[in-house]
Amino acid sequence: MYVKVAVPRPIDALFDYEYDEVTLGSVQAGDWVRVPFGNSKLNACVIETSSEAPALPEGVKAKPVIERLDASFRLPEEVLALCRFGSEYYQYPIGEALFAAAPPKPDQVLSARAKKTAAFDDSRKNRVLSDEQSRVVAEIRARCESRPDAAFLLEGITGSGKTEVYIELARDALAQGKSVLILVPEISLTAQLRDRFQSSLPERVALWHSALSDGVRQTQWRQVKEGQIRVVIGARSALFAPFCNLGLIVVDEEHDSTYKQEERFRYQARDLAMFRAKQRKIPIVLGSATPSLESIQRVREGKLVPLKLKSRYSKSTLPTIHAVSLIDESPVGAGTVRTPLAPTTIRAMQGAIDRGEQVMIFLNRRGYAQFLLCQACGWVQKCSQCSISMTLYQKRGELRCHVCASRARVPSQCGECGSAEVFGMGSGTESLEDDLAMVLTGAKILRLDRDQITSQKRLEETLEEFRSLRANVLIGTQMLVKGHDFPRVTCVVVVSVDSLLKWPDFRASERALQTLIQVSGRAGRAELPGNVYLQGYDLEHPVVRVVQGELSHEEFVQEELSMREMLSYPPFSRLVRFRFDHEAEDACREFALEVAGRVRAMLASAPGGGEEHRVLGPSEALLFRAQNRYRFDLYFKAPSLDLLYRVSKGVRAIASERGMNVVVDVDPYNS
Ligand code: ADP
Ligand code: ZN
Ligand code: ZN
Repeated sequence: MYVKVAVPRPIDALFDYEYDEVTLGSVQAGDWVRVPFGNSKLNACVIETSSEAPALPEGVKAKPVIERLDASFRLPEEVLALCRFGSEYYQYPIGEALFAAAPPKPDQVLSARAKKTAAFDDSRKNRVLSDEQSRVVAEIRARCESRPDAAFLLEGITGSGKTEVYIELARDALAQGKSVLILVPEISLTAQLRDRFQSSLPERVALWHSALSDGVRQTQWRQVKEGQIRVVIGARSALFAPFCNLGLIVVDEEHDSTYKQEERFRYQARDLAMFRAKQRKIPIVLGSATPSLESIQRVREGKLVPLKLKSRYSKSTLPTIHAVSLIDESPVGAGTVRTPLAPTTIRAMQGAIDRGEQVMIFLNRRGYAQFLLCQACGWVQKCSQCSISMTLYQKRGELRCHVCASRARVPSQCGECGSAEVFGMGSGTESLEDDLAMVLTGAKILRLDRDQITSQKRLEETLEEFRSLRANVLIGTQMLVKGHDFPRVTCVVVVSVDSLLKWPDFRASERALQTLIQVSGRAGRAELPGNVYLQGYDLEHPVVRVVQGELSHEEFVQEELSMREMLSYPPFSRLVRFRFDHEAEDACREFALEVAGRVRAMLASAPGGGEEHRVLGPSEALLFRAQNRYRFDLYFKAPSLDLLYRVSKGVRAIASERGMNVVVDVDPYNS
């Protein structure tokens, strides 16, 4: 007997091995086997079995499989199909795609500390759905009667109780003996959400994310497969969990860009979740307060059923939005220090603190100051490997590159002109903490950013400290935006709206709006009224007007969609980015230019032809030089899946032939 296997390597091929059923036992697709590979031995996944010898080149003989690993690690057919589709769609070698689904260390059975099962909290049993929530649940049930694989977009304002809807649907699925997968964008959200599910459902709710130990992950993997765990809340990788009888998928905060994996196998978990649901013919619910334009377009095309929750569950009203113009009100300074905060903002924060309420302040930049600038000649300290300015960490007296993580001492003089007038410019979360301590009285400040929060435990502790009112100000980056629920937060500050709006990406406005609405949603979650202060220079921007209620969301969406349609951007085409990198700038540019020419020629000769305008570039990547390599981007707006595959395969083939590096990113999210 023979098997074709995928190895966990970025190689776009399957490998043939001989398999001896008599000594190794029966085998089927999805099984893991140990095989000799080059000079080493690897765990590989069986993709196909056959009784016929493979056609191999003269003189080459298929090597024998060493052993078959425990059958409890076999990938369900459904997961194998998901990986195969993902590998094709995102143009990644099957081995890398399978790696996302593989149990940790299938060649050994690991032990995990027994988890204590949290108790089912009876008090939650009496929870009543609001009329609006009941209507949404009833509509989903009714639709699923006639179409078991119906897909929904649940658009519910922050605090409307989308989670209660998910819980209700999860109960339905469990009652039918089926399993439930809840995808959330970040692990920072999972603990809080797990408690809510756990206290409302009569069985164990498991968390699934990559930060768990191998032992726990492996044990959970087997328990999910055997149906001992039937409810999983997880980050994007949970999409590949080996459910044996999945009955419902929920994708919470479906617009969130962290569903896109940004390295190696670059899949979009929300989109693959749609595939998994369709394949299994089960319902899927995408939920968000600020749906992505992709999902809104899918509603228009009839592929998603729209559902709405328009009011907050509790008596709380939506917060009042205040736009604070930094042109009219210059930021407050004290001595030689300039804070990034206007007087109005500071007064509002102080007021909240004085009333015993809490403040959240959002700044999308880590570190002390953004960069180090020579005031005599304008020189900026950049990373020697990457083409970006280094971030200043005053307290540690060092500079750090956010791309390659290299560090440098803060120079005492300018690297260009030797002047000693070198200062930190702009502000980051670290400097903001110092500024706030100076301008506020009675502030106990916490910070939530990737420098401060180095572990899940640290994160939970910080959130708990804030929730239990041991601090009254929380400063944070993007991490703060997510759905944390703090009843005493009444004042939310966005330090710089402009930095959100000016990002060079076709999704910048959509993203800025999502961020602002999510951030605003943190204010006034309970009985206390909330206030949001948006500081910025360009406050006439449509995004700001939507947040202020001066422009309707529908109008904004219509504008954005028309613009995207005109320019053939997603969701009106499938965008692919080919990123070439090389240590020599010229070699990289020339190769990128050559590939661009060939892609244009390919399109010109394709049926229909004349589509060359769909190729953009090549151009220098936004981050042109990283880790000592130069990077050029070529974008392709594919009109069809067929052309997406043909062009991508073509480009990968040219690159591999010439020994050049190319990273393919289908539906890319970041520039
Ligand atoms: P969303 O996810 O839509 O922002 P949540 O599901 O977090 O909203 O709900 C907001 C708040 O309202 C939470 O504190 C939640 O416990 C409460 N809530 C919502 N619906 C109900 C309900 N049916 N019964 C009790 N509390 C509810
Ligand atoms: Zn660097
Ligand atoms: Zn200088």
